Amino acid sequence: MHRGLAKTGVVGQLKAGTGNRAIALRADMDALPMDEHNSFDHRSTVPGMMHACGHDGHTTMLLGAAKYLAESKGFDGTVYFIFQPAEEGEGGGKVMIEEGLFEQFPVESVYGLHNWPGMPAGQFGIAAGPMMAAFDVFDLKITGRGSHAAMPHQGVDAIVTASQVVSALQTIASRNTDPLDAVVVSVTQIHGGDAYNVIPDSVQLRGTVRTFKDSVRDAAEPAIRRIAAGVCAAAGAEMELDYHRRYPSTINHADETELAAAAAVAVVGDANIDRKPIPSMGSEDFAYMLRERPGCYVWLGNGPGEGGCMLHNPGYDFNDEILAVGASYWATLVEQILPAAP
Ligand SMILES: [Zn+2]
Ligand SMILES: [Zn+2]
Repeated sequence: MHRGLAKTGVVGQLKAGTGNRAIALRADMDALPMDEHNSFDHRSTVPGMMHACGHDGHTTMLLGAAKYLAESKGFDGTVYFIFQPAEEGEGGGKVMIEEGLFEQFPVESVYGLHNWPGMPAGQFGIAAGPMMAAFDVFDLKITGRGSHAAMPHQGVDAIVTASQVVSALQTIASRNTDPLDAVVVSVTQIHGGDAYNVIPDSVQLRGTVRTFKDSVRDAAEPAIRRIAAGVCAAAGAEMELDYHRRYPSTINHADETELAAAAAVAVVGDANIDRKPIPSMGSEDFAYMLRERPGCYVWLGNGPGEGGCMLHNPGYDFNDEILAVGASYWATLVEQILPAAP
């Protein structure tokens, strides 16, 4: 067992047979800073902290597979069990890679799994190509010149300008991007002003951009800059844009996707595999691992999202019935990719 990558990351190493091949399986571990609204016994006991994305379930599944494989050793080669911190926005997967994950633990391929509310429990969603979107954030400060609200002509109205910028940004999706490509530009915060009768000097906009294709992603930042600068210039205001690239898109590799599908079929049967799940505009820092090594990220149905049982919802509940399915999937994947010598 190796500790310390990305501070609290843990990598378990398990060898069997004499083979030199190696693969990695990854589970995320972190919770979310939110209060749980469930009343059952296994709800979070820590105020302001909740496993609302089911990463505790992912960790349990991978530990289950590690326990089984350590006892049965029905494979030939090395398996690395990656327990990764800080998936939720801080990019713990990226930090583990930067600190030498794949140099310390060289593998031919890497695999990830996430529970997926809204999909039938125990059903898998597996597809080559994009599964999750790239995720960027931006801060846009618009500075005009404050004035008395009754005398707007004496200033440059940052609020009206910011409103026009918010509207104009919608043309990135509707007018600048190929209609067959996906992009979301969402302004999620508007901060400005403190009084009924004062037009403030400046307004702060914040938002997020989601894309699948790198080329569409690369075009988003200059488009925001061009539009914001143009609208602000028209109004006589100034603007300042801070654009931060967070996670890249999660793109599954074709060959490894077939290996993942074969393992899932062996566990739950053909009828329980959705080979054409609709990709999500959500994001996943497993994307960084898939940019370093070929691999596949699958969804495992968590059951209907009744009562708010959706990811990041205070009513979320990880479905314990899928623990064995997930652990079996991991173990089967290892036994199929690294078959034991006859
Ligand atoms: Zn998650
Ligand atoms: Zn999450």
